[in-house]
This record gives sequence, C-alpha cells and structure tokens, in this order.
Amino acid sequence: MTKKEAQISGVATRAIHSAYTAPDGFGAFPVAIHHASTVLFDSVAAMRSRSWQDKSSYTYGLHGTPTSFTLEARLAEIEQGDHCLLVPSGLAAITLINLALLKSGDDVLIPDNVYNPNRDLANWLSQNYAVSARFYDPLIGADIAGLIQENTRLIWTEAPGSVSMEVPDIPAICAAAHARGVLVALDNTWSAGIAFPAFEHGVDIIMQALTKYQSGGSDVLMGAVITKDKAIHTRLQLAHMRLGFGVGMDDVYLVLRNLPSLKLRFEAHDRSAREVAAWLAQRPEISTVLHPALPDCPGHEIWKRDFSGAGGLFSVLFDERYTEQQTDRFVDSLNLFKIGFSWGGAHSLCLPYRIEQMRDRWQARGILVRFNIGLEEPADLIADIEQALAEMKKAA
Ligand SMILES: *Cc1c(COP(=O)(O)O)cnc(C)c1O
Repeated sequence: MTKKEAQISGVATRAIHSAYTAPDGFGAFPVAIHHASTVLFDSVAAMRSRSWQDKSSYTYGLHGTPTSFTLEARLAEIEQGDHCLLVPSGLAAITLINLALLKSGDDVLIPDNVYNPNRDLANWLSQNYAVSARFYDPLIGADIAGLIQENTRLIWTEAPGSVSMEVPDIPAICAAAHARGVLVALDNTWSAGIAFPAFEHGVDIIMQALTKYQSGGSDVLMGAVITKDKAIHTRLQLAHMRLGFGVGMDDVYLVLRNLPSLKLRFEAHDRSAREVAAWLAQRPEISTVLHPALPDCPGHEIWKRDFSGAGGLFSVLFDERYTEQQTDRFVDSLNLFKIGFSWGGAHSLCLPYRIEQMRDRWQARGILVRFNIGLEEPADLIADIEQALAEMKKAA
C-alpha cells in the first residue's frame, strides 16, 4: 500500500518530507552505512507481519540494519558458522553468552587463565545471582569430565589464554562436555577466527573481541557471538534483545572496511611475532618465551595439532633475578612499543602483568611481560627491545 502525497505548506515539514529521493542503481564496493532507530513499514499489516528475530527483514534499529546484517553474515562465514550477533564490546559478548545460557542454580566452569574480566563477571554472577562459577586448570583436557556436575550448563574455554598463553585441548574438553549435554563457549579472539577452526573442533559458541584484529585500527570497541545451532542462537538472540545490546553503524562500517585485509594483517603479525619471539628465546634475561608456536609454551603440541597460525600476541617470563622494578624499567624504556591495553592494531604494545594476583594457581617464577607485535619492521622492534634490556640492567 503506498501513501498518498501529503499537502505541504510549511518549510519545517518540507525539510523533513522532501519529495526528492536518490536514483536507484548506485554500485560501489563499500557497504552503505544505514543508520536507523525507526525502521519504516509500508502498512500496519507489514508492521504486524514482521518478526524482529527474522533477519530477512527489518523492524527496529536495535535489531540491525543492512550494514550490521552484512558484518554479522561475514563474521559467521569466516568462522564457518551460521548465525552471528554483534554487541558493543568483546566483554559484552562474554556477558551475553553467560546471561543467555545460565540461570540461578546453574554451574559454569572457567579456565584459570581466562581473560580477567570474564573471571570478574563470573564472580559477580556467583555473588549476586546464585550461579556457581568454578575455575579449572587450562591444561586439564579430558579430565574436565571429573568436574562436570548435574547442574553444569556451560564450560568456557580460551585458546590460548591471552596473558599466560597455555593452549587448551579443545576437542577433548568438547567431547567430555557433550557426553554430559554441556555447552562449550570459546573466546577465539587470539586467532581472529583465522588460525583455529573452532566449530570443527566441537565448540558450540564462539565469541570474538572485534576490537582486536577485525577492527585493526585501535579505534573500535565491538564483539560478536557466532553459532551453528539455531536453538542456541535463539536463546542468545532473546538475551541480546532483552539487554538492548545495539551497536553503532559507523563502528560497524569501520570493521567492514578492515575485514578484507584481516588475513593478510594476521599473517604479518604472526611472521613478525615469531621473529621477535625467537630472538627473545636466545636472550639470557628471558627464562621462558610463552608463544604457542615455541616448544616452551604449555600446550605447544596441541597448538601444532589444532592451529594453523599464531598472530601477534605472546608473553615472556623474565629470569628470576630481575625485580619488578627492573622489568618496569624495561617496559618504560621501550620507545616503539607503547604501554596500553588491547592488541590487534598496527602499533606494538607491551605490558607487565602481576599474574599471581590474577590466578588461583600460578607456579612459574619470574615476571611476566606481554608483547603485542604490530606491523612495524621486526628488526626495529628487536633493536628497541635490545636497548630497553640494557636500560633495565641499570636499574637496581
Ligand atoms: C580484549 C579481549 C576481550 C574483550 O574485548 P573488549 O572489546 O575490550 O571488551 C575479550 N577476550 C579477550 C581474549 C580479549 O583480548
């Protein structure tokens, strides 16, 4: 049903209801940025016939526009999944999964090396919402079966943990979980959906912090939750609607703009990080390089079996003889590496962690420092690290 042309006399009305519409047939590669809160229906009947859950049509900006539906579809394809929901941050993706799949009285298992805000959220859910949250050794593998209870509903995994880098045996954890009807969620941010085919290995729900490699510009906060199973997707979609987790279309556009170079950037980060990590492994100041592609990293054999790449993020343990004051001096003395959270952008970053305060169990000795290797020349990064190691030794 088309509306009749209205009688317009005032300029205020004309400024809003201009008769001009752009001609059809504009072709270009970029996806248009469709901003909308209100989405228009041709008639009341059309409005009544549409469901916000059906992504073949539009109902309200909060549930998506052509711009966000395009990014959701592309992210699902990258991970070889079927459904995707965008959320305002990686942490919101973790929150969405927990609130969609857990209720009071349920139990959730979380790796001890998990992204720290995930741990904090779990503790908050257990203190205020009667969810039981238990933390397991990330290298537990098939033995996770012994921790599964009648009320266990969800097992979190992270491959690898993004500070201490243990690589978990995801297929073994998934097999044990599925034998008891428990769902497995994976924080797949480290491998950007490129180096670890998580659904093939049995994972039910993947989350990505698009803030990292997918954005690639250190300028966007966004997350995604990707699934294959329609029933799980529907539970996530209901929680997404109830929580009002909408995203801004300008930000969606920025991620879409950088997605074509995702694999190339990831591979460049990977090459440079391996070069810097191999150099660090030869240094007497460093006791252990925690890079999944190097043999000292716990779970290295699993990485070799299940992963096809590594990206730019890894950590090192300094030799025990160096104090925190000295390793802080090291980080402060770096010039190309900046000090800051997050990763996946063009710029190299470096951060020290007080890891024993983040973990239930942590045995290794020596101070942990994490590197995000950006897109600079690796030789320049190595020279920067070398001069900072020399500076470190000047500190008491
Ligand atoms: C950054 C990060 C997140 C959270 O992403 P934000 O967009 O910063 O909220 C979750 N998991 C991992 C492993 C991350 O590195």
